[in-house]
Amino acid sequence: MFDGTCHCGAVRFSVSEAPQWLTRCNCSSCRRRGGLWAHFGSDKISLTFEPDVVIRYIWGDKTLANVFCKTCGCTTHWENLDTTPGARMGLNFNMCEPKAIEGLRIRHFDGADTWEYLD
Ligand SMILES: [Zn+2]
Repeated sequence: MFDGTCHCGAVRFSVSEAPQWLTRCNCSSCRRRGGLWAHFGSDKISLTFEPDVVIRYIWGDKTLANVFCKTCGCTTHWENLDTTPGARMGLNFNMCEPKAIEGLRIRHFDGADTWEYLD
């Protein structure tokens, strides 16, 4: 089980399976926010937050929304704007305790240019 929470605790997630890997991305958005992404189908994820505690940031081709806590500013996850059940979404595993995620493989994704993994 992997649990994550923003700094102030207003936004929480949990997922019961390990991600295949964690993704660091160098696109213009991710390099600024510093996400460490784990991807799952939305049906695998439990998210807990009140509707008014987050802000959604949508840009570019408008396929996803980056979601961050209004109070503490942490980017906790991204939501797929395709609302089909099970659509892929991303959790920012920087919200997890370091001990819980140590040992997970980290891959570097070239979201800035080639749209491929660099390893
Ligand atoms: Zn917060």
